[in-house]
Amino acid sequence: MSLQTPDHHEAHGPGLGGRLNWLRAAVLGANDGVVSTAGLVVGVAGATDARGTLLTAGLAGLLAGSMSMAAGEYVSVSTQRDSERAALALEKCELATEPQAELVELTELLEGKGLSRQLAQEVAEQLTEHDALRAHAEVELGIDPDDLTNPWQAAGASFLAFTAGALLPLLAIVLPGAGQRLWITVVAVLAALALCGWSSARLGAAPAGRAIGRNMAGGALAMGVTYAAGALLGAAGV
Ligand SMILES: [Zn+2]
Repeated sequence: MSLQTPDHHEAHGPGLGGRLNWLRAAVLGANDGVVSTAGLVVGVAGATDARGTLLTAGLAGLLAGSMSMAAGEYVSVSTQRDSERAALALEKCELATEPQAELVELTELLEGKGLSRQLAQEVAEQLTEHDALRAHAEVELGIDPDDLTNPWQAAGASFLAFTAGALLPLLAIVLPGAGQRLWITVVAVLAALALCGWSSARLGAAPAGRAIGRNMAGGALAMGVTYAAGALLGAAGV
């Protein structure tokens, strides 16, 4: 919130909260890539040891997952941006047609944030004089009109985060020799999940131990279930 900033242009860069959100989303995306690709390749490894098959399955999983993440992110951010634009347009219209009511509204909102009646009135008047739309966008809607999230950027970030995570189990299952690949993959995946759990706990200022445990348990479960399914199908000669 740039209420106290004398020059509002200084407040335009992504703030600490924004950066933390991006970082948290990146960790979650990478975690997703690790778990889903690990489950996929370990499942296929339960049925076959052929490197070409493992590579094909893992690569297809990586691409399908990263594009699905990117598309989902694009759609959700676009929708959010559309509704933010609509809210801004409505606000602009209200400011033009009933400026007095809008000034009262802004005053009350500022009062609700803890300012005294008189100070709220003064602040509201000055903000309205300076840039009424920005003041209403920030105080009333909680958005920065110059900094709406770009859906392409969000989609690209999701794509990269998922791909980075997915590469780990893919390489771990494909590169080692036949007798080694399974345990190397399991160990690498559990280590990566411990790291992801630790980072996301630290970013959210939550206790790390439980986050690490839950994250590793989720990945172990995914690999266990798909391995069992793959082994059953492999044994049945499917
Ligand atoms: Zn308003």
